[in-house]
Amino acid sequence: MNIERELGQKLKEGVKVNEPMSRHTSWQVGGPADYFLCPADTSELKEIVRFGRSRALPLYIFGNGTNLLVLDGGIRGLVVKIGEYFNYVRRSGDRLEAGAGTQMTNLARSAAQEGLAGIEFAAGIPGSLGGAAVMNAGAFGCYIGERIDAVRLISYNGESLTLEREEIKFGYRTSNLPGKGIVVEVILKLKKGHPADSLEMIEHFLRERSLRHPELPSAGSVFRNLPGQPAGKIIEEIGLKGMSIGGAEVSCKHANFIVNNGYATAKDILSLIETVRRKVREECNLELQPEVKIIGEEK
Ligand SMILES: Cc1cc2nc3c(=O)[nH]c(=O)nc-3n(C[C@H](O)[C@H](O)[C@H](O)COP(=O)(O)OP(=O)(O)OC[C@H]3O[C@@H](n4cnc5c(N)ncnc54)[C@H](O)[C@@H]3O)c2cc1C
Repeated sequence: MNIERELGQKLKEGVKVNEPMSRHTSWQVGGPADYFLCPADTSELKEIVRFGRSRALPLYIFGNGTNLLVLDGGIRGLVVKIGEYFNYVRRSGDRLEAGAGTQMTNLARSAAQEGLAGIEFAAGIPGSLGGAAVMNAGAFGCYIGERIDAVRLISYNGESLTLEREEIKFGYRTSNLPGKGIVVEVILKLKKGHPADSLEMIEHFLRERSLRHPELPSAGSVFRNLPGQPAGKIIEEIGLKGMSIGGAEVSCKHANFIVNNGYATAKDILSLIETVRRKVREECNLELQPEVKIIGEEK
């Protein structure tokens, strides 16, 4: 079976073989994807899903790779990026229909310019809207799930599917969306606002982020907060800021971030995650759970 030829000829962007995932993750680490695909529309996405199913190939979907630790051995099967082709925002009354590849900052700005309020907090979250919906991304006390009215997906059978608000379950950095299919469009219900007020809030949130967050490559918060206890505070209090393994370091600016000093491998980051968890367990009798998704194979 020549996947590159068989599937590639059906897709505008073709198929990349052994594409390094380090090019597609914000941590800038990760081994090769066997077959890397960027569908140009939902028809191509359906084609990919059906092709993968008919040949029993594993399928992995991702967006901007800002919440992913891809291990150094890479990902087997078909790896699909929901990217720029799914980047659009359309207004319909007090609703916005936006493609899953829309950047969160652009979404916040587009809503503001339309005079729709309530999504300003999303500015600066570096993910795609699809990834944000799946993760129920949030900031400054707000969550994207609170604004979602419906989600359009492609099921794992390759069929179009719409989930209404009451069919979607959102929790702290989780949702039931991955079990249903691939997110291609999100419908947000927003309030009427004033563009200038929303744009000012956006600038405020962006400033706050640049004060709090390290500049080096990271995947944002590595661990989930415990009830009433921010993970970063726990890690800082036991003196782990600045701890490093290889090129991975617990950020001195924000203890829940692990940064890549330029030469980290996924193994360095994974070892540091495990070491932080062990020390927190030993010293505080608390169990930290990763918020980042750890995927692929070790080398
Ligand atoms: C500097 C920095 C700051 C951050 N700040 C925040 C923050 O304030 N709040 C916050 O919540 N997060 C934050 N994050 C984490 C991350 O940006 C969010 O979790 C974001 O929503 C992930 O989106 P993504 O497109 O990068 O998803 P990815 O990392 O590509 O994927 C994340 C998960 O979603 C799945 N997925 C992605 N797209 C789809 C799709 N279209 N259909 C089905 N499944 C999909 C993937 O399989 C994976 O399980 C930060 C990250 C960084 C690097």
